Amino acid sequence: AAPDLTIALDDRFARTVPELAVPWQAEPAPEPSLLALNEPLAAELGLDPAALRSADGLGLLTGTVVPPGAHPVAQAYAGHQFGGFNPRLGDGRALLLGELVDRAGQVRDLHLKGSGRTPFARGGDGLAAVGPMLREYVVSEAMHALGIPTTRALAVVATGRGVRRETVLPGAVLARVASSHLRVGSFQFAAAQGNVGLIRRLADLAIDRHHPEAATADSPYLALFDAVVAAQARLVAQWMLVGFVHGVMNTDNVTISGETIDYGPCAFMEAFDPATVYSSIDEGGRYAYGNQPGITQWNLARLAESLLPLISEDQDRAVELATASLTSFSQLYGAAWLDGMRGKLGLPAGLDDEVVAPLVNDLLVLMQAGRVDLTTFFRALGHAARGDAEPARGLVLDLAAFDAWAERWLATGPDADAMERVNPVYIPRNHLVEAALTAATGGDLAPLQQLLVAVRAPYDERAGLEAYAAPAPADFGAAYQTF
Ligand code: AMP
Ligand code: MG
Ligand code: MG
Repeated sequence: AAPDLTIALDDRFARTVPELAVPWQAEPAPEPSLLALNEPLAAELGLDPAALRSADGLGLLTGTVVPPGAHPVAQAYAGHQFGGFNPRLGDGRALLLGELVDRAGQVRDLHLKGSGRTPFARGGDGLAAVGPMLREYVVSEAMHALGIPTTRALAVVATGRGVRRETVLPGAVLARVASSHLRVGSFQFAAAQGNVGLIRRLADLAIDRHHPEAATADSPYLALFDAVVAAQARLVAQWMLVGFVHGVMNTDNVTISGETIDYGPCAFMEAFDPATVYSSIDEGGRYAYGNQPGITQWNLARLAESLLPLISEDQDRAVELATASLTSFSQLYGAAWLDGMRGKLGLPAGLDDEVVAPLVNDLLVLMQAGRVDLTTFFRALGHAARGDAEPARGLVLDLAAFDAWAERWLATGPDADAMERVNPVYIPRNHLVEAALTAATGGDLAPLQQLLVAVRAPYDERAGLEAYAAPAPADFGAAYQTF
């Protein structure tokens, strides 16, 4: 049978908030060639991998073949970038192809990145290079496998077009799937128009797609805000527990769904240090590892401001209500994080917070002082829970302090099996990601495929993958920058 590429794409976003949708089309891709196809994700979406590999399939994945009934748009949004407000950002090099219903009945956005200039491109060329698009592919796959909410990568297709950066690089288009692309910046854009009807339509769409329980609350828009606060608190706690540094937490990169989005200058921290930054454009360390929870709350405050007209007719009252909800972020984040730390340390249920919190904090002090690799260390603690403390001892500087800490911890009776289910062996280590992207840019996809094998089953330690579990060589680490 011929490959079947029937795909029904709705345009509910564009119909609901046309003020935020500019009909647009992708630039031609002179010589499309598939670099990566996410077959498990294609299956979830009900798409036939063989059809996606066909000429029409590559057309869909680069935006040059638009399925019947689809109406691609560039989305408008505003955003605070490094603290400064820009009322008009929008998809400068991206398109929303439309919304589809996956096999589980969930609505998912199908979106392209690197598909050419749009009216929001400003000075940009609208294009993307192979390396960064494959970075998003591999890091988002790793995040998904770690159980962290994230947008997904369906495919990366090389376009055959050169992209001028510091040198000329091969260009690519990423096909991305998300539960939606609604973001804090979408609400900021609507609010900046001063159009309360528009904010309401956007909020109703967000409630329907992501937080339907808010619809029946006494105050649906406050309930929407509460739900986003809770989702973002859980999300950033998960980032912190694996050492993920997003790198560019501008308000246009914060989703309403609570999924991680926009893998630009992101990286996984190795040596534990809250000041860790990988992005060369983040000179002040605004988006450093340790700042991520506080920045999330700051970003949520910007969402609150945008929703105020919906929360109460009395604006003083609206501020009071939104502030109370925003204040709950610290408690929600703290609880999610400590809960995750209980899991990472294999602590028995029912242990008091008053015991757990100092145990965890003392461990972090030790880790920071010893510049201990976060991922390796928690796996080594799993061995310690089984009676072999040497691998963990070998990673710290202050042995006496570690021994004293380990005695307190072991006295709680940690569960080694449980620890191994939540502490990954394999994360996308920066030196391996760089090597894989460099090879792929030069035409060799094997290192990328091998890295994907490791990070797609992060808790499952396998013989032959030792190199994927080890920190970067000393000469790689310190000066590493992603952008
Ligand atoms: P980001 O930091 O990736 O979230 O992007 C911030 C803004 O810059 C968004 O409006 C993007 O669409 C836009 N942008 C980034 N790179 C390009 C590019 N090469 N061409 C056009 N717009 C871009
Ligand atoms: Mg962005
Ligand atoms: Mg980006």
